[in-house]
Amino acid sequence: MSRLNPQQREAVRYIDGPLLVLAGAGSGKTSVITEKIAFLIKQCGLRPDRVAAVTFTNKAAREMRQRVGNLLSKEAAESLTISTFHQLGLTIIRREQAQLSLRRGFSIFDNQDTLTLLQELLRQESKAAAEQAGAVAQRISAWKNTCTDSEEALREASGPADLLAARSYQRYSDALRAFNAVDFDDLLMLPARLLEGCSDTRQRWQERVHYMLVDEYQDTNEAQYRLVRQLTGLRAALTVVGDDDQSIYAWRGARPENLAQLQADFPGLRIVKLEQNYRSTGRILQAANQLIANNAHLFEKQLWSGLGPGDPLRVIECADEDAEAGQVVAEILDHQLRRGTRLGDYAILYRGNHQSKLVELALQQQGVPYQISGGTSFFARNEIKDVMAYLRLLINRDDDNAFLRIANVPRRGLGTATLQAIGSLAAQQHCSMAQACSDVGSDIINPASLRQLQTLLGHLDEARRAGDSGNIAGVHQLLRNIRYEDWLHRNSSSEDVAQRRMGNVHFLLDSLSRLIQREQRTLPDAIAQLVLRDLMEQQEEEKNSDTCVQLLTLHAAKGLEFPHVFIVGMEEKLLPHRNSVESGAVEEERRLAYVGLTRAQQTLCMTWSRTRRQFGERVDCQPSRFLDELPREDMEWLGGTEKDVERNLARGRETLTSLQALLD
Ligand code: ATP
Ligand code: MG
Repeated sequence: MSRLNPQQREAVRYIDGPLLVLAGAGSGKTSVITEKIAFLIKQCGLRPDRVAAVTFTNKAAREMRQRVGNLLSKEAAESLTISTFHQLGLTIIRREQAQLSLRRGFSIFDNQDTLTLLQELLRQESKAAAEQAGAVAQRISAWKNTCTDSEEALREASGPADLLAARSYQRYSDALRAFNAVDFDDLLMLPARLLEGCSDTRQRWQERVHYMLVDEYQDTNEAQYRLVRQLTGLRAALTVVGDDDQSIYAWRGARPENLAQLQADFPGLRIVKLEQNYRSTGRILQAANQLIANNAHLFEKQLWSGLGPGDPLRVIECADEDAEAGQVVAEILDHQLRRGTRLGDYAILYRGNHQSKLVELALQQQGVPYQISGGTSFFARNEIKDVMAYLRLLINRDDDNAFLRIANVPRRGLGTATLQAIGSLAAQQHCSMAQACSDVGSDIINPASLRQLQTLLGHLDEARRAGDSGNIAGVHQLLRNIRYEDWLHRNSSSEDVAQRRMGNVHFLLDSLSRLIQREQRTLPDAIAQLVLRDLMEQQEEEKNSDTCVQLLTLHAAKGLEFPHVFIVGMEEKLLPHRNSVESGAVEEERRLAYVGLTRAQQTLCMTWSRTRRQFGERVDCQPSRFLDELPREDMEWLGGTEKDVERNLARGRETLTSLQALLD
């Protein structure tokens, strides 16, 4: 606490009513939350399990837990609730599942599951309708983010597209109920509506949460806001911190106006502003301030840095996207050589996931280790999705989505028509597809497939029985029975790939064993825990982050900081993104750029490319308008000539070789 400035200290100590800390990037908002948790427990005597803190990503939650862990005893830190909104929602749903008409072991559908189900439902309507599945999914998500259920949606829908979405919403909700499943948006909407509608339950939860803290408040959507209101109730023991200039989740229903709404809903709201930035050197901060000054503002903020002016910002013009990727890697290697930094000090940020490919390639070519956050997750790999589907069926035989995934993995000759027939039978009998399979006759499926199906169900039952007695050997036996390894070998491009994929499967099963042993869980419980991780964690884990260059989207970089930052693709149509320009959402893009700039502590380098391949064609590109909005006097504009790149790469390679020699 001693290092905090007077405003931060005031924010930590103020507990007489709701508090909003409104301040720009790097001013120590997250630090206030961390310190306040410790203050509440150590100075105010609050029980740790009565404090709930909400962060935006699992990575942020982990970091916060670690930081609080340094301030408190281990036991106290462990009994705190530090989670994302979705995890908090899930905890509530778990405890209240009976009231929500959910059975034990309910499934959680991720966005891909949702889309598949909607496609399935819409296909029954028409082929043209099935093509709308993506748009319908978005519309349903938007309704859920405002806590609108399917009946309300149907009442308020107007126009053919909206009506289709509302009708689909209803059928989708029925299907979820039949599958004993919830989707991602339900994790917010269901608890918010439950607490609003049921005073007993609300009271119980308000008893549990004596103090609530929310980070990155500017990115809460309506459902999240309503959940916060219900949990804090009249007591309003609440601290939220945020920055309207960093609101970048409008597409998920986030509203920066929530910050202003807070003032209306909590009349006693105290506002504390922080003005000193402790993260970035003067030039970086000045550039960020000047950029964001081009947006309209709800709140005026001042930010200054006491860290000295630092290096000028660099902008590098590159010939094309390959040269750009090569240039960035060369810059990193060269910089590392001159400054003796660690690779983990560098972050490369980009607007869209697809932009990481070329950078990855360039890093691989130079043998530079890197790590992607929020990229393709462990759980997104096909073999892991398969095995997870089998595991999901073990804990919930009615999980139709899991059933659909593995019905033909390994191949059993069950075509889509057959599966649809089973699906219709299930709908008629109001049961799940796996259940319907016991009644299905050879009039629907050919005898060979039917035999295969019955064998599969037999194997699942056997593993389930073994699992009930807490035995994971049943899962191994199941994979042997279905000959999963053979199937992987037949379906992989090489022996190496097959082995790596089977290695992933073993890793998954080992994690399951560890959960059972270390946390003394039952097999179904351990599986449920893995399913949750699959959904929430998406492999955000940091492996050796000190020794790897960090690759992230601008969205994923929110709240984080790195000594040296590169932002690639600073071009019109990329940042600001073409769609946002067309829909007039440039201010949100500017906030995204602001988030990017303010991640940098010591140096910031931005690159753009004169031409770029797009949809198979080479197109000319223009530098981003945001570059023009930065202070000229603090910038260095450089051309990335072939020669520069070659020189840097050669120097970089030398560093790597000498480092390698040292390590060996
Ligand atoms: P963002 O808006 O990007 O989320 P933030 O406002 O949450 O930023 P923090 O991440 O809490 O800012 O702090 C930024 C950096 O400043 C961190 O490295 C933190 O340790 C440091 N810091 C915060 N407060 C102080 C302080 N009073 N003295 C010195 N350093 C501080
Ligand atoms: Mg923060």
